[in-house]
Parts: sequence; C-alpha cells; structure tokens
Amino acid sequence: LYQQIHLKEKQYLVGQLAASIAHEIRNPMTVIRGFMQLMGQASDIPKSYQKYNKLMISELDRAEAIIHEYLSLAKEEVGKIRAINVKKELLQVKDTLHSYALLKSVNISFHCATENISMYGDQNKFKQVFLNIIKNAIEATEKKGNVTIYLKSTDSDVIVEVHDTGKGMSETQLSNLGMPFYSSKEKGTGLGLMVSYKIIEGMRGRIEVKSSEGVGTSFKVVFPRVGDL
Ligand code: ADP
Ligand code: MG
Repeated sequence: LYQQIHLKEKQYLVGQLAASIAHEIRNPMTVIRGFMQLMGQASDIPKSYQKYNKLMISELDRAEAIIHEYLSLAKEEVGKIRAINVKKELLQVKDTLHSYALLKSVNISFHCATENISMYGDQNKFKQVFLNIIKNAIEATEKKGNVTIYLKSTDSDVIVEVHDTGKGMSETQLSNLGMPFYSSKEKGTGLGLMVSYKIIEGMRGRIEVKSSEGVGTSFKVVFPRVGDL
C-alpha cells in the first residue's frame, strides 16, 4: 500500500509539472503566432514566403492543440468535485464552438428535455469531454450539415448525445476510437477522444458510439446522476 501511495504521489507531481511546463510554453507560442500573423500581412514579402508563413501558423496551431489536449490529461488529478449544472455547461461549450461551426458552415443546435439537470464531477473536465466530441462532430460534417446535441435524464442517469450528419466511420475506425494518437486527420492529434474517454471513465460514465459511413455518427455519453441542484 505504501508503495502505491508513493506511486500516486509521483504521478501527481509529474502531472503538475507537465501542466505547468505546457502552460509556460504556450505563452511564447502565442507571441510567435502574433508576429507571424503580422508578417503575413506585410505587403513587401514574396508570395512564396506568404505560403510558408501560413504553414508555420498552422503548425503552431497544431502544437497548441497537442498541448491543449495533453494539458487536460496532465491535470487529471487536480479536479474539484462539485455539482455541475449540466445544461449551463453544455450551452457554454456550444457557444465556445459556435464560431468554429460558423467557419465550417455547419449548423449546431441544442435540445434539452428537462431543466436543472445536475450531477457531481469536475466541471472543467466535463466541458473538455464535450468540447472534444462536438469539435470532432463539426470536423466530420460537410457544409450545410447538422450537429445536434441532446440532453436528457432519467431517475438514475444524465444522458448527453451528440449526433452529426458527417462522413461517419468504418468498423475499423470505430474500434480505434480512444486509442492515443489515432487520427484520420492531416492535422489531428489523436488525443482528444483518449482524454475524453479517460475523463468519462473517471466520472463513472460510459460511452456508446454508433456510426454509418456517409450518413453520420452519434455519441451517447451516460453519467450516473446524483440529486438535483
Ligand atoms: P483528432 O480529432 O485530433 O483526430 P480525436 O481523438 O479527437 O483526434 O479523434 C480521433 C479520430 O476519431 C478522428 O481523427 C476521426 O477519425 C474519428 N472521429 C471522432 N469523432 C468522429 C465523428 N463524429 N465522425 C467521424 N469520425 C470521428
Ligand atoms: Mg478531435
């Protein structure tokens, strides 16, 4: 038992260290990105360099995405457990992703059958789960397609479903979901779902995925519900 505690403590410290290093690296990256953007707008740089400039910015964004997705994993042990107002948090996630959906011309809508659904957990981690799932849904969907979020509850469960009319997945792709670094995207990290699955597991939830190629995908996340706010 003593050794186990020792290990937990070490993991916690490494997690904390990783989180703070990631945070520190982010600041200079933001500065670099800002100047890169300024350079890209200058009229006296050659066309070919403008292309490199775009590439550099998009690679910086990729590094930022990796840090972002890893950071939440590293912070795993630090979460604060309290009552989560599920509807409020989901609406916030939807708002965060609103401009991203607009950019991709994807419609995003939210349907909630009941008010004041609550559950216990870390609200940042809760948001991280749906940020990742909904972002993937938007990325899988063509222009004019739909991403729909449903919030339901039963006496014992909180149920969140994210449906998209996107490209769907094959059986092989489905079986790879949640594997670290599995990504079908050119600029993907393959960390988003792994992090989400870990968080859901930690919150004693479960996840079901149904998908049909060319038709769409639906993610269903079920958490145990404990009382109301
Ligand atoms: P990333 O988004 O960086 O690729 P994720 O872990 O978030 O990494 O997702 C892993 C892979 O799962 C994606 O690259 C994609 O192939 C697949 N995927 C996840 N969600 C969907 C979805 N809604 N529709 C189709 N494919 C999906
Ligand atoms: Mg993703």
